[in-house]
Amino acid sequence: MSSFDENLNAIRGRMNRAASQASRQASDITLVAVSKQQSQDRIQAALDAGHRVFGENRVQEAHDHWAGMAERYPDLQLHLIGPLQTNKVKAAVAIFNTIQTIDRPALADEVMKEIYKQWRHIYCMVQVNIGDEPQKSGVSVQGLPALLKHCGDIGLVIDGLMCIPPLNDAPEKHFSALRDLAEDYGLPQLSMGMSDDFETAIAYGATHVRIGSALFGDRGQ
Ligand SMILES: *Cc1c(COP(=O)(O)O)cnc(C)c1O
Repeated sequence: MSSFDENLNAIRGRMNRAASQASRQASDITLVAVSKQQSQDRIQAALDAGHRVFGENRVQEAHDHWAGMAERYPDLQLHLIGPLQTNKVKAAVAIFNTIQTIDRPALADEVMKEIYKQWRHIYCMVQVNIGDEPQKSGVSVQGLPALLKHCGDIGLVIDGLMCIPPLNDAPEKHFSALRDLAEDYGLPQLSMGMSDDFETAIAYGATHVRIGSALFGDRGQ
């Protein structure tokens, strides 16, 4: 067994316990393995372990890691979890299955345009700057209704909300705030929780947890 296998078993066990404590089905929670800054060997070990859902935060790096892989692994699912510039939308729509980081109307427009052009089905979520941090991407809580309305107007289906809570804050209030927003707008999916706080996120309703280092080991090794 590779260390990815062992880590995957351990994380799955913790996800199962967190789900049952919250009276939820573990099968309702998707484990997005965040492969940014990981070596191709570690990524291959993850694929060999049977894992198929991965997250990347940069379009170029996603192409470096994953170009051509969808032919070999047809059930591969790639999630973009980092900020997206409009000039990278074409490349992003070509490789990702889910874009979790829609955060402004111009980006929604561009994604919709590329979905039509490339005739690809892409799932989308809106990233919310839940801690209202000036340096962080994501739409503000105040800006969310207008952005969702815009997406509705142009026909871009939004499946859920995503957030990265402030680093130095207890995550609970941010997870519960995101859950309440998703409920208000009838959005079924919630991407929240990383290596250090995914069990808490599951308690607050996460449907997608994004886990990097706890699965792959430290980045850049
Ligand atoms: C890197 C990253 C993660 C994974 O972080 P870990 O602490 O390694 O689990 C999750 N979400 C986003 C948006 C990231 O950029």
